[in-house]
Amino acid sequence: MRIKNVAAAAAALTLTLALAACSGSGAGTTPSAAGSGAAAVPAADITIGVAMPTKTSERWINDGNGVKSQLEALGYKVDLQYADNDIPTQVNQIETMITKGEKLLIIASIDGTALSTQLQEAHTNGIAVIAYDRLIMNSPNVDYYATFDNFKVGVQQATSLLTGLGILDASGKDTGKTGPLNIELFAGSPDDNNAPFFFKGAMSILQPYIDKKVLVVKSGQTDFQKVAILRWDPATAQSRMENLLTSTYADGSKVAGVLSPYDGLSIGILGALKGVGYGTASQPYPIVTGQDAEAASVKSIIAGEQYSTIYKDTRELAKVTVAMADAILKGKTPQTNDTTTYNNGVKVVPSYLLESQIITKDNYKKILIDGGYYTAADLA
Ligand code: BGC
Repeated sequence: MRIKNVAAAAAALTLTLALAACSGSGAGTTPSAAGSGAAAVPAADITIGVAMPTKTSERWINDGNGVKSQLEALGYKVDLQYADNDIPTQVNQIETMITKGEKLLIIASIDGTALSTQLQEAHTNGIAVIAYDRLIMNSPNVDYYATFDNFKVGVQQATSLLTGLGILDASGKDTGKTGPLNIELFAGSPDDNNAPFFFKGAMSILQPYIDKKVLVVKSGQTDFQKVAILRWDPATAQSRMENLLTSTYADGSKVAGVLSPYDGLSIGILGALKGVGYGTASQPYPIVTGQDAEAASVKSIIAGEQYSTIYKDTRELAKVTVAMADAILKGKTPQTNDTTTYNNGVKVVPSYLLESQIITKDNYKKILIDGGYYTAADLA
């Protein structure tokens, strides 16, 4: 009896392998339900849910398109949804994906703490979850995380601020400039786990200069909670900057630099500065940083307004995420390169971290245009 079962299992395995071999280029077959070992399912019969936060920022549009097209190239069907930065909308979208029987979820969360119930449902239904760029918090049901080295992004933002201010030279060496130079700090959304990573990374570089009084945060606002901008909203950043200018800088003193963690916020901040007369030959803009190398901000860098941004190649992030998804659905173990950093409050989520780059007027052509991220026309 036992022998017979083994023989039957062997026959089934042979059939599975034969089917897999027949499936043709790219569009492989996969074990169903995240590698449960049940009968193989062709990729064409699998839908992957992709939940993105918003279309108001160009980066997420690129992310969504990149993930979708790369999954489709492997034969999968894709259900790509954007949630207008509205938490209940994203929760509903994810619930619908689960109800529709989608086999894997790739989620860039709006509020990283708001999805525990949905992720539990996904887990109960054998649906694997990959956190995309932003970690999903307080849930044991986040299987993998694909992102950039977010602490390092903050280090790069602060380094470029110091370079722009002339405190560091192009090779990163301290020039001996003593200041004091007035700066102001901004951070991202407090419900996005990346935001404190960026801020801590930046402060690891800025704090010694604040301690030495080379840099002065004139408003005195240096706490993450004080400087965080809910939902990464450019208008909120603009009005915080306006308030700082009319309060702290009402005495005629000038802002020399602004740590901004995201290009959208930088645009709002520059708008506030322009409103009180910065951006002229006699009163140039302060050094303003950014993140994402969005086209509007790269144009602003070319025009000499924003000083720097941090480039995170969304094509690479999509590539890593799609490889993870494909591995999971084929019952294999996805590649990770960090299993210590990203604790979501319940577990350390195995992660793949990519590297980012500082962009200024000096290197945008070489990195962004020669690298094929933008055409010259995109930035004209
Ligand atoms: C991303 C940044 C982005 C920000 C605002 C963060 O989670 O990592 O690249 O600038 O969200 O969209």
